[in-house]
Amino acid sequence: MPHPKRQEIAALLRKGLTNAAVARELGCDRHSVGPIRKALGLPNVPRQPLTLEQKWETFTRPLPDGHVEWTGERQRPSGTPVLGYREETHTAARVAFRIRHGREASGYTYADCGLKHCVAPDHVEDEPMRTRNREQLRYLGGGPEHKEHCVRGHDLSAHVRYEPDGVAYCSACKADDKRRARDNRPATATPEGNPVQTIQAHQLQQGDVITSTPEPVTVRVIEQRPGGVHITNPGDPDEVDGRAWQWVTVDRA
Ligand SMILES: [Zn+2]
Ligand SMILES: [Zn+2]
Repeated sequence: MPHPKRQEIAALLRKGLTNAAVARELGCDRHSVGPIRKALGLPNVPRQPLTLEQKWETFTRPLPDGHVEWTGERQRPSGTPVLGYREETHTAARVAFRIRHGREASGYTYADCGLKHCVAPDHVEDEPMRTRNREQLRYLGGGPEHKEHCVRGHDLSAHVRYEPDGVAYCSACKADDKRRARDNRPATATPEGNPVQTIQAHQLQQGDVITSTPEPVTVRVIEQRPGGVHITNPGDPDEVDGRAWQWVTVDRA
C-alpha cells in the first residue's frame, strides 16, 4: 500500500528538501521518506550544516531594549556565553560582533550596555570601539584630554583606556598591577630599611611614600572622587591619580 502522503512527499523531494526536512514539514516518519526517494530515483541531498552565525542565532533570545540573552553554554566560573562550533570554542560576543561589523573583534569584546553578558550585535564592542566611545563620553562630559604618559611613564597614546564613566586609566599599569598581585611578590626592604608594602590605592595614608611611581612620591593630601578615583597631592607637580583597586607599593614607617 503506498504511503498516504506519497504525493506530497514526492513534491517536496523534487523541490530538493532532505528526508528529515520533508518529514518535519509533513509530520511523517523520516524512515518512510527514504524508500519514496529511492523509488523516484532522486539522489540524496547532503545535509546543509548551519553556519557559525546560524548556530549562534539558535541560542539567542531577544529581550526588551534591544538586549539579547544567551540561552546556550557558558564558561565557568565567569558565566561568559560561549559557542562550540566545529571543535572550536567561540565567545558569543565575538560572533555577535562579527555579525554586526563584518570583521574580527580586536581585544576584549563584550556588550557595554549595562546588561551583563548581553550578546546583542548592536551592543557588543571590541577594545578599540569601547575606548573610542568612552573617550567621546569623557569629552562630552567636559573631561580633559588624557595626558601623554602615565605616572609610570607608559605611552598613553597606546595604553589609555576608559572606565564606563569616562575616567581614564593606563592599561599597561593595570596589567602590571594584576601580574604583581598574582605573583604576590615577596616584600623586600626599602632604602630606609622599612619593608615594602603593597597596598591598594584606597589604603594610602598621609606620610606614605609611593615607590611604584618613576620617582618616589610622599603622600601629603588624598582626595577621593566619584567612581573610586583617588588623587594624591591634587594639583601639585607630583600628583598621582589612581583607582581604589590599583596596587601601589609604599614605604611606610
Ligand atoms: Zn544589551
Ligand atoms: Zn602606566
